[in-house]
Amino acid sequence: MCRVIAIANQKGGVAKTTTAVNLGIGLAKMGKKVLLVDDDPQGSMTICLGYREPDNLELTIVDIIEKIVNEEDIPEDYAILHHSENVDVLPSNIALSAAEVSLVNVMSRELVLRDYVEKIKHKYDYVIIDCMPSLGVMTVNALACADSVLIPVQAAFLPVKGLQALLKTIYTVKRRLNAKLEIEGILLTMVDKRTNYAKEIIEEVNEVYGKTLRVLPTEIPLSIRATETSAMSKSIYDYDPRGKVASAYTELTNIVSQNA
Ligand code: ADP
Ligand code: MG
Repeated sequence: MCRVIAIANQKGGVAKTTTAVNLGIGLAKMGKKVLLVDDDPQGSMTICLGYREPDNLELTIVDIIEKIVNEEDIPEDYAILHHSENVDVLPSNIALSAAEVSLVNVMSRELVLRDYVEKIKHKYDYVIIDCMPSLGVMTVNALACADSVLIPVQAAFLPVKGLQALLKTIYTVKRRLNAKLEIEGILLTMVDKRTNYAKEIIEEVNEVYGKTLRVLPTEIPLSIRATETSAMSKSIYDYDPRGKVASAYTELTNIVSQNA
C-alpha cells in the first residue's frame, strides 16, 4: 500500500523542502520505494537534489499535468529522475506557475495530481509532495491526493500565526475533495533550544494546537549544517550523518513509517 504525504505550509522558508528531501531519503534508507514530487515552481527540491538548472529540464511535473489534462497515456517513468540516494524525483520548474494558472479553465482542476498518483502509486511505498508556499490550485491538488499532510512550522512568531489559514484549507479539502486526508502532525523546525523565545513558541504551539492536532515529538534543531546541505545535492544523512539534524530526521522518519 502506498502512502501519499503532502508537506505543506503557505509560509516560505519553514523547511518544507528540507523535510521532504530528508523524510523521503530517510524512508528510502529503510528500504522503501519513494517518489519525491516537486510541487513548487521555484524548483527548490529539484535544485537541492542536484538538478541545478531546473528550467533546462526537458520533462517536469508540467508535462505530467499536460498529459493528464489532455487525457493522454503517460509512458513508464515519464519525467522521472533517479537520485543516487535511491529516490525517484518528479522535478519542477518555473513553467509550473503558468501551468497552475491555465488549470483554472480545466474541469476537476483540483484532481489532476490525484489522477497521476493513482496511475503510479503501485510502484511506490511512499509519494512525498513538496508543496509551494501558497494555498493555490497546486497545493490543493497535493492535499486532494494525499493520505496525510505534514506541516513544518518554524519556531518563530509569524509562521505560527499563518497556521489558521492552512488548517482551514485542509479541512475544506477534507470535506469537499478527500475525506481520507489526515493531519500527520505539526513538525517544529529550526528550533534553537538555547533561546527562551523558541521555548515560548513551542509552548504556544502546544497550547493552541496540541489539543486538536498532533504536535510531533521530534523537533528539528537549527543547524548551519542543515543550511549547507541544501547546496550539496544530497541528504543530511550523507552530508552530516552524525549531526543532530540527521538524527532528528531519522526519528521523524521512524515516526512517520510507524503511522502506516
Ligand atoms: P521551504 O521549503 O519551507 O521554503 P526550505 O526547506 O527551503 O524551506 O528551508 C529554508 C532555508 O532554511 C533553506 O536555506 C534551508 O537550507 C534552511 N534550513 C532548513 N532546515 C534548517 C535547519 N534545521 N537549520 C538551519 N537551517 C535550515
Ligand atoms: Mg520549498
